[in-house]
Amino acid sequence: MSALSRPEFHSEEAAFAHLEKIVWAGEPVCPHCGSLDRLTKVKANPEKRIRVGLWRCGSCKKQFRATVGTVFEHIRLPLHKALQAVYLMTSSKKGISAHQLHRVLEITYKSAWFLAHRIREAMRDGNLAPMGGDIPATTDAPTHSCLPSASPQPSSFGSINES
Ligand SMILES: [Zn+2]
Repeated sequence: MSALSRPEFHSEEAAFAHLEKIVWAGEPVCPHCGSLDRLTKVKANPEKRIRVGLWRCGSCKKQFRATVGTVFEHIRLPLHKALQAVYLMTSSKKGISAHQLHRVLEITYKSAWFLAHRIREAMRDGNLAPMGGDIPATTDAPTHSCLPSASPQPSSFGSINES
């Protein structure tokens, strides 16, 4: 066993469960209307292109995932790989290059570069705490301090594609 053998680094379901615990402190919140009620989890179905971690709000009828408002919002990489990147970058004293992420995570250099850039930006804000450990729970906000709200210039980062 090692820190990297934790389920959230290998399974997309576990990755979302982990993020949901951090972002929502166990209680989902609709990021569109703030509703805490009538939120239902949508079962993932790759055939119908229904992604893992999807929720539906019965109040505003919109769909959302726990990634909304976090550094993971517009990335198209699997969340468990992005969590690995955060772990590697925050646990390494001297940091880790995009090239190293590209090799270790087996993602394209372009994806690695965007991801590293985003994570570094979040760390520079002082808002990104290491993954794991004690996480103070709040229920009054849909985001958590270690997951900064949408980065100030999300469009300039574009989407991160694995291919
Ligand atoms: Zn809603």
